[in-house]
Amino acid sequence: MNLQLSAEQLLLESSLERVFQEHSSGARIRAAEPVGFDRELWDILVDLGIPALRVPEDQGGSGMSLMHALLAAEQAGRALAPVPLVEAVVANRLLALAGGSEAAALLEDCLAGRAIATLALHNAGTRPRQLVPAGAVADAVLCLQGDALSIRRGVARLPMPADGAGQTQHGAIAAQLLDLDASDSRVDLAGTREAFAAALAEWRLLGAAQLALIARRAIDSAAEYACEREAFGRRIGEYQAVSHVLAEAFTRVDGARLLAWRTVDAIARREPEAAALLAMLWWWAAVNAHEATLGALRIFGGYGTALEYDAQLCYRRAGAQLLVGGDPEKQLLLAADLLYGPATGREVPVVALPDAGEVAIDFDWGAEADAAREEARAFLRRHGSEARRRFMRDSLDGFDPGLQQALAAAGLLYPELPREYGGPGRSPRAAAAIRETLAEAGWHMLMPGITDMLWKVIHHAGSDWMKQELLPKIAAGEVYLAMGYTEPTSGSDIFAARTAATRKGDGWLINGQKMFTSSGHRSDYNLMVTRTAPDKHRGITLFLAPVRQAGYSVTEIRTIGDERTNVTFYNDLEVPDRYRIGEVNGGVKVLAAALAIEQSGGDLYVNWLRELGRAALEWAREPGAEGRPIDDPRLRLALAATAARMQVTDVLSRRSLWAFEHGQARKHEGPMVKLMGSESWMNCSQQLLRLAAPDTLLRGYTGAGLIEWSARRSISSTIFAGTSEIQRSIIAEAGLGLPRTRS
Ligand SMILES: Cc1cc2nc3c(=O)[nH]c(=O)nc-3n(C[C@H](O)[C@H](O)[C@H](O)COP(=O)(O)OP(=O)(O)OC[C@H]3O[C@@H](n4cnc5c(N)ncnc54)[C@H](O)[C@@H]3O)c2cc1C
Repeated sequence: MNLQLSAEQLLLESSLERVFQEHSSGARIRAAEPVGFDRELWDILVDLGIPALRVPEDQGGSGMSLMHALLAAEQAGRALAPVPLVEAVVANRLLALAGGSEAAALLEDCLAGRAIATLALHNAGTRPRQLVPAGAVADAVLCLQGDALSIRRGVARLPMPADGAGQTQHGAIAAQLLDLDASDSRVDLAGTREAFAAALAEWRLLGAAQLALIARRAIDSAAEYACEREAFGRRIGEYQAVSHVLAEAFTRVDGARLLAWRTVDAIARREPEAAALLAMLWWWAAVNAHEATLGALRIFGGYGTALEYDAQLCYRRAGAQLLVGGDPEKQLLLAADLLYGPATGREVPVVALPDAGEVAIDFDWGAEADAAREEARAFLRRHGSEARRRFMRDSLDGFDPGLQQALAAAGLLYPELPREYGGPGRSPRAAAAIRETLAEAGWHMLMPGITDMLWKVIHHAGSDWMKQELLPKIAAGEVYLAMGYTEPTSGSDIFAARTAATRKGDGWLINGQKMFTSSGHRSDYNLMVTRTAPDKHRGITLFLAPVRQAGYSVTEIRTIGDERTNVTFYNDLEVPDRYRIGEVNGGVKVLAAALAIEQSGGDLYVNWLRELGRAALEWAREPGAEGRPIDDPRLRLALAATAARMQVTDVLSRRSLWAFEHGQARKHEGPMVKLMGSESWMNCSQQLLRLAAPDTLLRGYTGAGLIEWSARRSISSTIFAGTSEIQRSIIAEAGLGLPRTRS
């Protein structure tokens, strides 16, 4: 796995950033309206060879990869650059691939800046009059009529039917309604229908990347404004109605950007699902860029609507870009056709993808993860069964000590636990591959999941004695841990803990009550947040309290999601001082690290979403009273949306994991995964619950029964490990620099 751009890619990115900073100011963008074209800027890009990025070297281009083109599109998007960069890059490549003297002559003119070529998105045979991106400035249009690819020059520009003004005005991009039947010349090319389809796919990919960065610009400028503008005596960024809108948009748009990168990776690897990924990407990027730019505009209040302000520019540009690509939900339906086969009576759409070249980035977890996945599969072959899968759900906490010890012996229980303490010392990627494999078999394993988080806290902040004493026992599956953070009067406000730790001789006595101490009925040690002084933050001390002793008792709590959790009571529980983690009254620092560990992982949400999608598909393919549910377009949209959200969560999760492994972790990236994953799981399963009614009224282990279970279980995932509101606050503060709203 590698998300580090190559030196050449970074250079391209920074050069374009500089050019656009200098030549795509708000004033220049406005001056380029209404057509949406700045000739001077275009000439600079031509001099830099940008339109030739994807043209092979032997035809006068630089033969760069799809990823290079994507990075160029991103920069153009962030700058709202009034140039047809995406259209020209794609059309020029198509000209180069088509071959023939006419194509070569036009290509030469395009690379020299004497002409601009674009492409018509729809077949001219069925739609001769169509809105063509960059049609207002293009000298030539590449289009498909039937199966024939041709160049049309001097195509008639038509007034827009609504107002007769000429260009599309929603975003002042150079899109134009053209009559492809009325052109000065038409020259047929040797290029194939497939080559044209691949060019269209490239256009969508680059367009989606552009959309994501237009939205990112809108979010950044709204965040900046929210840090300055005051209302009711406060900066508006202190109001969550402002900051949470931005955090949500930021998460979705960052997901769109990463999904575009992932799609490049999938195309480069020729993955069978690459075309479906591209269709999901367009839907996700288009809808979320539209909503993000609208949300950002509103944060400027009345000024956002004023043409002198840039907020409306982002909104109009994103809008134009998505509208020219047609209804985004049609792309989601296309994704459904590609993923599940077409609905009865529909044809399989023709799809082709461009050649990606050397893209440098790579989302695959690699050989170590593949080997670990194989080991987990072998374990499942030995120990897995339908009865066990059911046990994992029916037993509420799915805990079987013998099985856990067998998993430990196979190095699958706590995969990252270092070898020096008896663990297998695998990489985080291998650990994620193991969790994915076990989850595929229905083993989600909440309880070891908690210990898996907490041994990392011991490893990070525990004393040498504690590490030597406990980590080997944990590695062997002999000892389990629980988290005692939440109290009856404080959950999100974790530092308001009241459970008291008072000195007794060399040790401590703990008194108080904790809520929702999951696995506290089986744990050997609880990581306790205790109060040791009155000051809210400088009066917190952490202990890893041994709880298999007098002074500890448990009452069970059953949840709507079939979870078993507990109220735990501490009455003069004796804790020797060697079980303290961190300084006395210095617990906040340790807790911050513990929370960062808890909020860093996200692949469990990916696994849950994947399981939900599988179950829903299983149900949808079964013929019912009114035919196969999967033929219902509403269900197809819901299934494909679940798949898309799973992919977005996956790329956010992989990025977070990669950044962690490379020492580049940023505080908001884990919370983005948690927010996107848990909210997606809950919202998709609630929607599928309704669509699959009344079958989802019944419990079960597969199909509709599993949808029903997901709809219940997913609710708590938006609450534990920090509610979605808390995640949005962290993302707003750490990712966008907005003011802190919690004390
Ligand atoms: C199944 C399950 C397992 C759990 N396991 C554990 C465990 O093992 N150990 C443990 O310690 N805890 C555990 N929890 C508890 C969980 O961490 C808390 O429920 C959670 O942090 C919320 O705290 P609360 O329930 O006190 O809600 P509150 O903090 O009272 O929140 C109530 C509502 O107010 C909102 N809210 C609170 N503060 C803000 C704010 N600043 N801005 C905006 N909105 C806000 C919340 O988002 C929520 O919607 C578990 C919970 C569940 C459901």
